[in-house]
Order: sequence, then C-alpha cells, then structure tokens
Amino acid sequence: MTDLTDLTRLSASALADALARREVSSVEVTSACLDRIAAVDGDVHAFLHVASESALETARGVDARRARGEALPTLAGVPIAVKDVMTTRGMPTTCGSKILQGWVPPYDSTVVAKIKAAGMPILGKTNMDEFAMGSSTEHSAYGPTRNPWDLGRIPGGSGGGSAAAVAAYEAPLATGTDTGGSIRQPASVTGTVGTKPTYGGVSRYGLVALASSLDQAGPVARTVLDTALLHEVMAGYDPMDSTSINAPVPGVVEAARRGDVSRLRIGVVKELGGEGYQAGVRTRFEEAVQLLVDAGATVVEVSCPSFVYALAAYYLILPSEASSNLAKFDAMRYGLRVTPDGDPSAEQVMAATRDAGFGPEVKRRIILGTYALSSGYYDAYYGSAQKVRRLIADDFARAFTTADVLVSPTAPTTAFAFGDKIDDPLAMYLNDVATIPANLAGLPGMSLPSGLADEDGLPTGIQVLAPAMADDRLYSVGAALERALEARWGGPLLHRAPELTTSRKEA
Ligand code: GLN
Repeated sequence: MTDLTDLTRLSASALADALARREVSSVEVTSACLDRIAAVDGDVHAFLHVASESALETARGVDARRARGEALPTLAGVPIAVKDVMTTRGMPTTCGSKILQGWVPPYDSTVVAKIKAAGMPILGKTNMDEFAMGSSTEHSAYGPTRNPWDLGRIPGGSGGGSAAAVAAYEAPLATGTDTGGSIRQPASVTGTVGTKPTYGGVSRYGLVALASSLDQAGPVARTVLDTALLHEVMAGYDPMDSTSINAPVPGVVEAARRGDVSRLRIGVVKELGGEGYQAGVRTRFEEAVQLLVDAGATVVEVSCPSFVYALAAYYLILPSEASSNLAKFDAMRYGLRVTPDGDPSAEQVMAATRDAGFGPEVKRRIILGTYALSSGYYDAYYGSAQKVRRLIADDFARAFTTADVLVSPTAPTTAFAFGDKIDDPLAMYLNDVATIPANLAGLPGMSLPSGLADEDGLPTGIQVLAPAMADDRLYSVGAALERALEARWGGPLLHRAPELTTSRKEA
C-alpha cells in the first residue's frame, strides 16, 4: 500500500500504481495538485494559467474509463504542467510574451496531443523567459517565477516555471523545451530532474520556435524514473516535423528501472567544470563521479577543445534563427495589435506592435540575429558559427570512442538572487556554458541533483550526455546515481527543501 496522506508528495510512478490499483482516483490526485497550486503559487508563480476545469474534466473521464475496466496508458490520470511555449487548443499560449497576450491556439502541439492521448490532466501553463530566451525567468513579461528553495532566488530558465512547479509539489510532472539548456539548467538549480532528448526524438510540431535547429522538448520530474515515463509519452516519430527521427524510441523506462553502470565508461569533460564553476558545485560533482566508480563504472578524462567556442557560436546561430522565426509576430495574425494614432500604415502598426510587444532581451536578439544574417556579414558570422558547430560535433564523436557517456556539472553556479545578472547579458549567457554543446550537436542530455553546495545550501546538478539516440544511457546512469546519492542522503534531495510558508494555508 502506498502512503496516500499527501498525494502531492508522491512520484508520478507511485501515483500511476495507486491509480491502477484504484486506491485513489484521478479527481483526488488532480484536486490535490490544484489545492497545492492555490496554496503556494501566489509565492512561487510557476503558472501563467491554471486550467482547473479542464484538468478535472480529464480526470473524471479517466476515472470513468478505469471504472469500466478499460486498459489505460501507464500515466493515465497523473496530472502534468505544460510549458507555455507549447500550443494547447483552447488554452492560452503566451510564451511569456506580451505580444501573444490573449492568443488561444486553435490546435494542439504534438507533445500536448500525446499527453492528452495518455489521459493526463493538464493543470495549466508554466511561466518562462519570453520566447525561451534566458536562464532565470526574469525575462517573462508576466513577472518572474521564484525558486521554492529560496523565494529570493531565480528558478533557472527559460523553463523556470516547469521546474519550480515540480520542485514545489504543485505538479508531479512538467514539460520543458531546451534550446541551450532550458530544461537542464532549471532542473539543476531547483533539485529536479530534466532531460533534453536527442534532436528529432520529440516532435517540434506546435512548439513556438526559438531556434529550430536547436529546439528540443523534454520531460521534467522529481525522479529519474518519472522523467523516463514522461519521456516515453512525449517521444516518437511525427510526420508533422520534418526533422523528426523515424526510429523506435530508445528504451528509457527499462533503463531507468534497471539503473546499471557496471562496465560503463564515464568520460569527464576536461573543458567543463574548471574556472568559473562554484566550489560547491565542483565538490558535489566530483563526489557523484566517485559514486559512479563505486557502482562499477570506469572513469576517463576526455578533452573537447572546441567547446570553448560553443557559447560564441550559439549566440550567433540562436539569434539568427530567432530573428527569422519571430518575424511572424507582425500584429496581423496573433495576439497583440497596437495601432498608432492617425492613419497608420501596416508597417507602422507592425513596428508599434513589435516595439510594445517584445521585451528588451527579445529585441536584443532580433537585432543581433538580423545583423549576423545581413548580406556581407553572413559568412563571417553565421557561416563561421556553423563551422564551429561541426568541430563541436567532431569533438563529441571523438570523446564517444573512449567513453559511453560524458559528465559535467550542469551549470556553473547554484541559483542566484533576482537582479544579479539581469543587467549583464554575458553573465546571464554563461549559465549555459556546459549545456549548449549538446544542443549544437543534437545530442541527448540529462540533469539530476548531485546535492547541496556547501557555501549556500542550494541544489546543484550533474549533467550526463550520450550519443544520438542513446537516450536510454542517460537513464541507466541517472537511476544508478540517484540510488547511490539517495542512500547517502537518506532520501530524496527535495525532502530537504524548506517548507513553503504559504503551505500552512493548506491545513
Ligand atoms: N538560456 C539560453 C538562452 O537564453 C537557453 C534558452 C533555451 O534553452 N530555451 O538562449
């Protein structure tokens, strides 16, 4: 029997088991999450939109089907939060931007369609940096999300809302997207688990594009197994996405259940983890690597010399693609329209709308990208960045001849305070120094908690990277490491997070 006293504390896999045994109903689980959101989200602000009615309606439907004895998907009845970058039919989708305020998409993204087909109630849409540009959610037009570990600190970004919702026990599962680290970095600073699948592993259809050659959707959860269960729901070939991979989904759930690293060769990336990384981040990382050795893995050091150029190349490729992708927000088709006085031309309406609708970081990147793509500069900037991308892929290929997976700290620091980096774009960009190489090469990566940094007592994460379509290896390593770490901690890391003060209202 599962302990059902507080349903919000249970893992998705425990909830799925209890639901299947009919010890609990989806309406009860969904209501518990909605109550928790009502109690703590005033402080956390993980959600931009809460969909109580439709979530309960889905829950009632699943309960009725289960009562009839229908065979249901594993996660049927388990609630989920969806990042606001994914279109949801009939439910607002703003991407954290004023320019999409009031837009209600007429269709579901493939990821959302799969979640619905799996019978999972959608609790609502989570906060994010505007158009997924940022590492702190401070760039959301609707105000930042706060880190449940310390409400004065950022929850990471761009998917800070999803990570915080999961860490604050508002939802057992959430979706994210990762273009340069937006699933993994928030996971690292909130003590949660997040995976960026292989590029092409999860459909991009219906994700509002940031940089199409880098974007990838993935799962966020509190345990490695839960992350795998959601990964399996989200992944798979989709003819609606021309870069979707037509191959079987890697056996992520099976790998997460096994959690075995014996005879596995773990490569520590020399270039990720030295100068600029907080001492406590490095210490927890080194201890985690030692635990993998104790569990039977061998460790080798690998060098990826081109990684030092990854950040620079990314900040040419991403703005170039983003400036082109965001051109469609022209006041004619979606959301906001600002009409200047007098008899404005269409061009003046577009200019006024884009000026009022986009925030400063989005404008910065549109200008950068338009410049990088302009005639005469294209080869010097975009062309050179593409060459760096090739070198990075080559570095990975070489490293994977001596190692089965690569590891590094996920992010250089723990959660920083609001305002710390907002006026210094380069300092903000450096949060993704360890996560960006995998996006440039299209490879899968996971972040899972490695512990609390000594200097500030805040969570930090370890990143695991694997070759394309070997996403299952992330889960083998992740589950083995999680087991070893939890044995050391005497339970999940999140159990050490402070109680949110507003949770008293729950009583
Ligand atoms: N923080 C990175 C950026 O600002 C990553 C964003 C992302 O992965 N969506 O571009």
